[in-house]
Amino acid sequence: MAQLILNARVKNMEASATLGMAQAARELAASGVDVANLSTGEPDCATPQVICEVAKKSLDQGHTHYVPVRGTKTMIQALQTKFLRDQKVSYAPDEVMCTVGGKSAIWLALQTLINEGDEVIICAPFWVSYKEQIRLVGGVPIIVNCSAEHNFMPQGQDIAAAISKKTKAIILNSPNNPSGGMISQNQLESIAQILKGTDIFVISDEIYERLLFDHNEHISPASLSTDMRDRTIVISGVSKAYAMTGWRCGVTASIKPVIAAMEKLQGQDTTCLPEFIQEAASFALQENDMVQKEMARMQKSYQERRELGLSLFGSWPKVSVFKPQGAFYLWVDFSAYMGQIVAGRKVVDDMDFATRMLKEAHVSSVPGTSFGGPGYLRFSIASAPSTIEKAYHRV
Ligand code: GLU
Repeated sequence: MAQLILNARVKNMEASATLGMAQAARELAASGVDVANLSTGEPDCATPQVICEVAKKSLDQGHTHYVPVRGTKTMIQALQTKFLRDQKVSYAPDEVMCTVGGKSAIWLALQTLINEGDEVIICAPFWVSYKEQIRLVGGVPIIVNCSAEHNFMPQGQDIAAAISKKTKAIILNSPNNPSGGMISQNQLESIAQILKGTDIFVISDEIYERLLFDHNEHISPASLSTDMRDRTIVISGVSKAYAMTGWRCGVTASIKPVIAAMEKLQGQDTTCLPEFIQEAASFALQENDMVQKEMARMQKSYQERRELGLSLFGSWPKVSVFKPQGAFYLWVDFSAYMGQIVAGRKVVDDMDFATRMLKEAHVSSVPGTSFGGPGYLRFSIASAPSTIEKAYHRV
């Protein structure tokens, strides 16, 4: 038998903790256990019927072939409309493209920018895949720790202190997964000031841009100035806003040479997003009255779930819960419990705590360490209120 020698980077890569916890919850549920699953970051509701109908019609019309790598004409137009509406930035047709999930768009952006040893600044708490994707392309993640006081978003001086001669890019993510914090105009302006005159790019993951609480306003770094527009790669997708996680449609916008490089990469990888998915996704992205009505319904339910989650989880002793401004997560500080005896055994760390919570209380969460936030746990509130209540009582 041949000896298997894995690629060293893949071997040393950590598996996705979000997907890992979701799978562990799934397996436990499949064995007959009633699991309160608050690990997966995805809406519990089905994709609105009106969007599904577009995909069905497209399949009936035989739209099952290869299409242009960057996207169909309809998709490109929908993307221009979307970026103008949500990012407040005008992009030419060759400055936008769709990808197989937002995760893939980040991956393509990193492969486009990063040479061996280049540094990429990420702000903790950060989404689990950034660090591993950076390492996989040969880059070095440089972590800037952000505090609750600043909504878990970086201050200009933190970024300035992290920049070195090797810095190639910064990943910003607002609204943030896992904290739900959002970056302010002031924070963005100070970062823009620091980047001026450098060759540092911004990869701006804005996937939660449409999921905002309390009428907060989303600001894209690309909208700040021409200088910022031209150094930013905006990443988003249809997964969260339209409850389309399983459709795997990511979207991205940047200057033409960046998009051309990402197109070249995608052309050697997944080829294109299937046409029937592009048709449904571009319909969703245009947000006609019917889609807007569905979005308003979902947003109302997230707002109610946030209030419920905050009031319940906030009543646990010695725990502090950050009030999210967007996205659909509760970022809960359990650090007072680390090293303490809980239910007859010492809690080693947040990973141990999350594992025990799943095994003993049948509540699934994601440990903070995987987001660069040891002592914390992330709970998704895109789940039914009854599940949130069940989790609370069990914990
Ligand atoms: N982004 C979601 C989460 O954080 C989906 C899972 C993933 O791709 O990480 O749970």
